[in-house]
Amino acid sequence: MSQEVKSTCCYCGVGCGVLIRSEGGVIIGVRGDPDHPANRGRLCTKGASLHLTAQGHGRLLHPAWRPTREQPVQRSDWATALDLAAERFAAIIREHGPDAVAFYISGQLLTEDYYVFNKLAKGLIGTNNVDTNSRLCMSSAVAGYKQTLGADAPPCCYEDIAAAGTLLIAGANPALAHPIVFRQIEDARAANPAMRIIVVDPRRSETAAIADLHLAIRPGTDIALFNAMLHVLIAEDRIDRDYIAAHTDGFAPLAELVGECTPQWAAAICGVAAEDIVRAARWFAGSGPALSLYCQGLNQSAHGTHNNAAIIHLHLATGQIGKPGAGPFSLTGQPNAMGGREVGGLANLLSAHRDLANPAHRAEVAALWGIPSVPARPGKAAVDLFKALASGEIKAVWIACTNPAQSLPNQAAVRAGLARAEFVVLQETFADTDTAAYADLLLPATGWGEKEGTVTNSERRITRLRSAVPAPGEARHDWQIVVDFGRRLGQKLGNPTVDRLFPYKTAEAIFTEHVATTRGRDLDIGGLSYALLEQRGPQQWPFPEGATSGRQRLYANGRFPTADGRARFVAVRHQATVEQPDAARPLSLLSGRLRDQWHGMSRTGLVPRLFNLDDEPCLAMNGDDMRQRQLADGDLVRVSGARGDIVVRVVADAGLAAGRCWLPMHWGSRFMNSAGVNALVGDAVDPHSQQPELKHVAVEVAAAGLT
Ligand code: SF4
Repeated sequence: MSQEVKSTCCYCGVGCGVLIRSEGGVIIGVRGDPDHPANRGRLCTKGASLHLTAQGHGRLLHPAWRPTREQPVQRSDWATALDLAAERFAAIIREHGPDAVAFYISGQLLTEDYYVFNKLAKGLIGTNNVDTNSRLCMSSAVAGYKQTLGADAPPCCYEDIAAAGTLLIAGANPALAHPIVFRQIEDARAANPAMRIIVVDPRRSETAAIADLHLAIRPGTDIALFNAMLHVLIAEDRIDRDYIAAHTDGFAPLAELVGECTPQWAAAICGVAAEDIVRAARWFAGSGPALSLYCQGLNQSAHGTHNNAAIIHLHLATGQIGKPGAGPFSLTGQPNAMGGREVGGLANLLSAHRDLANPAHRAEVAALWGIPSVPARPGKAAVDLFKALASGEIKAVWIACTNPAQSLPNQAAVRAGLARAEFVVLQETFADTDTAAYADLLLPATGWGEKEGTVTNSERRITRLRSAVPAPGEARHDWQIVVDFGRRLGQKLGNPTVDRLFPYKTAEAIFTEHVATTRGRDLDIGGLSYALLEQRGPQQWPFPEGATSGRQRLYANGRFPTADGRARFVAVRHQATVEQPDAARPLSLLSGRLRDQWHGMSRTGLVPRLFNLDDEPCLAMNGDDMRQRQLADGDLVRVSGARGDIVVRVVADAGLAAGRCWLPMHWGSRFMNSAGVNALVGDAVDPHSQQPELKHVAVEVAAAGLT
């Protein structure tokens, strides 16, 4: 007899609800949850294939360890494995101090998992070296929101898509990366043919194909474009001066700065027509509510924070925020990048959107956790964390549910760091990832369809995940592994508070503690519990005690979570990409996603039908650039950058201007003979968000001389 349980898709930040069908302890099907507000029963091809990834193949099923890196893994048991991990971590902490160890976790983990990882590092061990792969996708959006609006809180909801008069989609390709949001865009356009869709993307993407106006800007010139749009809005008096005066600060210096950013000036920088910049500004201010949707194209830049601020300025200057159909809406990459931040899941954050740099916030968290203090020393963000492994400053790293030996930039340096580390623990669902080759200890974790907990999607909506089947083999839930390890480590370190720090017997107990940390904060969910989520379904935050529902939109009253309640304009200037094309490497290489693959393919790579559309990574290239290099469709080419080269097939793409090429980011050495596009990409980071410039690198392309 089959049964269904409600859960969510574990891929993108749309956060679609699913119904998982199982029989006899085996997952046999999945369908969209018709009651979930994010998707109303719809699923994209990835979500609709989830059950095919849950058949047990490719799984890590029992703890295993390697006596040396040269030897094959040997089966172990949980007690031995966790004792070994606790012994090694304790020895390193005793000899070198708490900052000699680090944790690198994932936006795929549940909120409860994230919470205990942070408590383990910041509360028990006394290090802030806990960062996440969300650093690679959302940290510029976080910093952009905080700089301008005062808090890491997308103010919009999915219903705003239908209510918008203009959609400004920048650095995002929801047609492939957020497909259910794209369905909502198509529905909105069908219901309102007058809707204007502007897409900003250096490539004519699948999303750009439905745009009324496609601004194919040069890579990295977003700020110049948005500043020029603001210039037009001011020059044509299309701004909301009353809103600016009542609710914002910093407009005058920005207005002075953008006074020089004429459409003609920006046209020369961005490589688009000045009239199109004027048209975009007029549509933004004059076609009803304006909603911006943006993602990695803005975030994955060495000036990603300012990219975000520049697009938010357009909303503040026109009062297009806090109203139906209006606002700056950052699309979340991973399924729980948002939930991770809610519990302080970045090296610079603490629980409930508190800041590590704020002494009062550190004291609040110490009091909540019942510990003397939270260390003030800054933790290492992702790129620096792996550099510190390579330099020997960090000696042990615990990696959970992510694959840094593929997903981080400057792969040679990352792999050198992993190779030099004295001790690498990998807590994973799948056995065969690029990172697994560097692990001294492998710990099997439960995966989709097996876990209990919560996630938060792009519109701040918290959904319960429920297990449909028991854990396979000896796999354990991520939070259980952390708690068990924490207790053992605490005992070895002689920490008397360890039992009080990790009292949890269920994921619900962790959620209840997390809820308590949020009271009085911008994301207050004091009114939420597993029971309420069970009864009333997914809810948006904030949801304070006594509330009858979550808040659909933020800032409707014009008050912002800054010290004085006013939003801020930031004087941001155009900055070029870190690597500029030159004579040796004249092409701008961009990276992006395909419809049917997710991240490094550890899960989607298990499903043959997800290779039907694209079965290998092909370099898309401008036809003239190919002819100049005597290349034809299907040729093998060598893509060479400053850090290395990779060999892939090339295909002509009429959607790419001369001088630009594009490569999907999913393939790593599990599926091809290199670390993929991140073997080429550099590790320069945004100074505010520490997010690396993953989207752009200068390369040359030539025939590979292979057949
Ligand atoms: Fe999953 Fe995202 Fe597709 Fe929804 S849109 S089914 S969350 S991958």
